[in-house]
Amino acid sequence: MDALKEHVLNQVAQKGIRFIRLWFTDVSGTLKAVAIDPGELESAFNEGIGFDGSAIQGLTRVFESDMLLFPDPSTFAILPARSKDDEPVARLFCNVHTPDGQPAQSDPRGVLLRTLEKAKQLGFTVMVHPEVEFYLFKNAHDLNKLEPVDQAGYFDHVARGSSNDFRRKAVRALEEMGINVEFSHHEGGPGQNEIDLRATDALTSADNIMTLRTVVEEIALSENQVATFMPKPFKDHPGSGMHTHISLFEGDKNAFYDAGNQYELSVTGRRFMAGLLAHSREISAIFAQHVNSYKRLWGGGEAPSFICWGRSNRSALIRVPLHKPGKGKSTRIEFRAIDSAANPYLALAVIIAAGLAGIEGKYDLPEEAEDDMWRLSDLERKALGVAQLPHSLSEAVSALSESDLVAQTLGEETFDFVIREKLQEWHEYREQVTTWELERFLRGR
Ligand code: GLU
Ligand code: MG
Ligand code: MG
Repeated sequence: MDALKEHVLNQVAQKGIRFIRLWFTDVSGTLKAVAIDPGELESAFNEGIGFDGSAIQGLTRVFESDMLLFPDPSTFAILPARSKDDEPVARLFCNVHTPDGQPAQSDPRGVLLRTLEKAKQLGFTVMVHPEVEFYLFKNAHDLNKLEPVDQAGYFDHVARGSSNDFRRKAVRALEEMGINVEFSHHEGGPGQNEIDLRATDALTSADNIMTLRTVVEEIALSENQVATFMPKPFKDHPGSGMHTHISLFEGDKNAFYDAGNQYELSVTGRRFMAGLLAHSREISAIFAQHVNSYKRLWGGGEAPSFICWGRSNRSALIRVPLHKPGKGKSTRIEFRAIDSAANPYLALAVIIAAGLAGIEGKYDLPEEAEDDMWRLSDLERKALGVAQLPHSLSEAVSALSESDLVAQTLGEETFDFVIREKLQEWHEYREQVTTWELERFLRGR
């Protein structure tokens, strides 16, 4: 057995771990878990743990429903204790395999792993850090009267405010699990908060996003609050985005850094960005996967709607953030359209695949957009050659279904599943008669 597995087994024995939770996600990004006795862990490492995959959304076709979970020993972490006398519980993220031992094509973590393998063949390690925004409510009993935990705004310090305490608890819990947090602060909406994780490899980053969501939801529940990562809970307040910073490394050299280029962004960085711009419409049903995502993208509040890039232009889809002088290693791009409800594995996979297509195809980067896109007219934007993100999930799914890039990245099975699911979501949504419609049309206006 390899040294890492042995190290984990020793840790489990030494720390008196009572349960091991095996974590994985379905296609929509919902966390799934099964708890095993520590005595089962060694065989789980070597032979996998069987489960009925057909019961999990999108994971398998019914006729090949037996699947295996293989825990990834590098993801071992002890979960924060609920109380002082809680028995310790650990978690491991898993890769899903078919009964004949092959990685399951439809496992979202496997989809990302395959994409990262492709990056590796081109010589790159992908580094990622996300800025995760979410809202906190006092409760969610009456969905028409959601009450945020405070009325504060961007970077506000709320004296003895519950958001401050909440963030402190969340950051401490994440750091105890070995997840480094760079910043945390109050965001623009009432009760809206943000936690930014430090850069790490893309797979760990996706695992960390799943852990962050779980930790935040758990802490909220323990405080009798409700945390939501839905993209746009309020019409009149900003949505919750998950700006994602990306760079490629060749060994320990940042392949996006070139001191001699505009903004010190290398040709590789420019091509990656060009790929992401060119493919952004067809991948949007993955990084903005819900009906509600398009209310964020077209609802103002600094969410991007137009396909362009800029330096400090907050209306742009991609930014090239300023890095401190002499800090070439932190040269990166910031993709701003992805929201906090995305499946991080699938979203990172298609974002990275789009960027790599730009590198392989040597795409040209369009001119930088210096104007505030929201202030320009359609004609002015057209003259600048700036296209728009899809306006709705329906438009996004149309673009998705034409996409070879996404079909290849997700694999045919998951690609078809996502299209069916998303059309279903759209059709259900389209049937709704909203309060807005009743107010507006009931009396025949
Ligand atoms: N909440 C905004 C969004 O939906 C982002 C605000 C910010 O710039 O951090 O993307
Ligand atoms: Mg923010
Ligand atoms: Mg940002």
